[in-house]
Amino acid sequence: MKIRSVQARIVEIPFKDGGSGQGITPTTWNMLETVLVRVEDTEGNVGWGESFAYFIADATCSVIDSLIKPMVEGTKVDSIEAWNQQIQRQLHLFGRYGVTLFAISGVDMALWDLYAKRVGKPLYKVLGQGERTRLSTYASLVRYNDARIAPQVCGLALDEGFTSLKLHEISMEPIEACHAATRGQVPISVDVNCSWSVADAHAHLQRLGQMGNISWLEEPIFPPEDFKALNSLRNATVPIAAGENWCTEQQFRQAIEARAVDYIQPSVTKVGGISEFLRVMHTADQHGIGVLPHSPYFGPGLLATLHLAAAFPQMMQVEYLYVEPDAWLIDLSPIRHGAEFTLSDQPGIGLEPDEAVIAKFLRP
Ligand SMILES: [Mg+2]
Repeated sequence: MKIRSVQARIVEIPFKDGGSGQGITPTTWNMLETVLVRVEDTEGNVGWGESFAYFIADATCSVIDSLIKPMVEGTKVDSIEAWNQQIQRQLHLFGRYGVTLFAISGVDMALWDLYAKRVGKPLYKVLGQGERTRLSTYASLVRYNDARIAPQVCGLALDEGFTSLKLHEISMEPIEACHAATRGQVPISVDVNCSWSVADAHAHLQRLGQMGNISWLEEPIFPPEDFKALNSLRNATVPIAAGENWCTEQQFRQAIEARAVDYIQPSVTKVGGISEFLRVMHTADQHGIGVLPHSPYFGPGLLATLHLAAAFPQMMQVEYLYVEPDAWLIDLSPIRHGAEFTLSDQPGIGLEPDEAVIAKFLRP
């Protein structure tokens, strides 16, 4: 396929979550930033992608505009996986992890959507053998740092049909309050975004194990690529998960070989796109390790994750960020039923971003 144009735009949509917005992120988080990538071939077909952008949209967008766009426009892409490896080689001196890979991820995703549309198949049928089109998601709550609000939001998510939850609380008080509010009947995972020391993690793991029904502990320690320390935390009671801050199959393979975690968590907008995600899946299959994709997105990144989960039945639950956007970059209502998504036979990722929403929330 010959590529006529690559366009990256920043869309920023405010959201509400019932809290103060002061939790995980460097400054108050109340905006869903998306670097939305649109590629068009010379026959007028269009593909959509998304690069990781929370708090870093300008940098990600700049890498696409200044480095990737000039290398793609006017060229032919016959194999997206080969293109991905080639662009990684060409850009490796700007960093193998972080913004460079985020930028590659969005363009790679758009190329896959474009390819699937050209061959008239839904993306999951292009990617794998799986035919599972009904996919369950878990509600991923933001960090409230509040033992009163967090359990209330757990209740709202359960009322909406979710049957499993993820907390981003880092102190035991709100975690225990949520567990008590759900009477221990609902699987809860705990994501502390690398906040604990190894010693604290050991102590908290004991308590989490006693509480019961804790699905996994996510990114317990800093730095997230300290595979040896992660390995030291593994026990039979509470599985350990990580990977949203690892990029490329290379780093996942190193983590798996170091037996760092029970579950890996590649993020399609960060890891190097769908091509790199496929390589991670291949390595995961070889080692028989479970995959819990990281996907707190509302654009092509969420849809691509759902298609990957449909293509690879061994992939476990998909993450759904439990917040209320002021507008929907992509209208998910045709495929979303509470906590469940049902993919259609529409080609590519199946749904299109809403140009009216893009126009309204485009960063000038
Ligand atoms: Mg996480």
